[in-house]
Amino acid sequence: MRDVQDKLRATAKDLLASGKVELVLGFEPASLPMRTRACFARTADAAERLVWNEFCSQNLAAYLPRLFEKPAHIRGDWTPPKVAVVTKNCDARSIIGLVKEHQLARENVVIIGMPCQGMVDPEKAAATVDERIAQACLECVSPSPIGADILIEGQSRPAAADRFQRVKDFEALTPAQRWDAFVKEISKCTRCYACRQACPNCYCKSCFIEQSKPSWAGAGDDLADLLLFHIGRMFHQAGRCVECDACVRACPMGIDLRLFTQKLVKDVEELFGYVPGVSLDDLPPLCTFQSDDSECFVTGPGEE
Ligand code: SF4
Ligand code: SF4
Ligand code: SF4
Repeated sequence: MRDVQDKLRATAKDLLASGKVELVLGFEPASLPMRTRACFARTADAAERLVWNEFCSQNLAAYLPRLFEKPAHIRGDWTPPKVAVVTKNCDARSIIGLVKEHQLARENVVIIGMPCQGMVDPEKAAATVDERIAQACLECVSPSPIGADILIEGQSRPAAADRFQRVKDFEALTPAQRWDAFVKEISKCTRCYACRQACPNCYCKSCFIEQSKPSWAGAGDDLADLLLFHIGRMFHQAGRCVECDACVRACPMGIDLRLFTQKLVKDVEELFGYVPGVSLDDLPPLCTFQSDDSECFVTGPGEE
């Protein structure tokens, strides 16, 4: 992994020294063991701080929409920066999604694709090697970066055989059991919004849950309000979630949000043949409409 990190630093230095980008967004060691944090390297010297290891789990795409927002103090013309981002494949897919949602222009981002052996879940860190790998990485079917502008050579972990096994187990429950499991999980929520802040798709300047005109939910921890927030947020992930696990890692209550967003991923893939973040050319299904679209979502599952 040290070899891959050296190649990454050399690539970042070259991009910064040549002026091809103004910023390399990557990872640097955090103050706690087995953690990294975002590194904003603006000079070739600063690129020496970049690291690549099994704790680079954060999805850095979550920073991008704000980096490409015109600062409020600038009047008149403004040129957005050119930014290189160190990515795992799930992060790169988030960037493609953000480009499609017009949050940034593809030409302003250089995607540095890293070989990925799977990220370690710090909660599992005492376990043996394969048991330490985060659930999202165990379920990843494309650990090798695709669509990167620059590919750092190295070994990625093998692709998972079936990423939806946990979702299938959940689907096998009765509707009442599924609802009970969902309510049990969501009732642990303290409504800190860390999941939303960590998610690259939650870039809204004003989230529906905090709007006051109209007010969709109360501000406290009433179960109905918690359910409304999570059902709303999960539906906003339909056709957008890249299964990166950032929301789960951010949650102080250990809530497995990804199981539920992954169910929507599976549904969108099966109903519309759409996988988010793999192509710039296909339209997200929730952004398109055809007069002969199935209306089974209105009439009932299985009916046309
Ligand atoms: S909902 Fe969670 S798993 Fe999906 S893209 Fe957002 S942070 Fe990643
Ligand atoms: S939950 Fe929905 S409205 Fe709120 S930030 Fe996320 S996508 Fe936007
Ligand atoms: S991070 Fe966890 S506790 Fe915080 S709002 Fe999200 S689900 Fe609730």
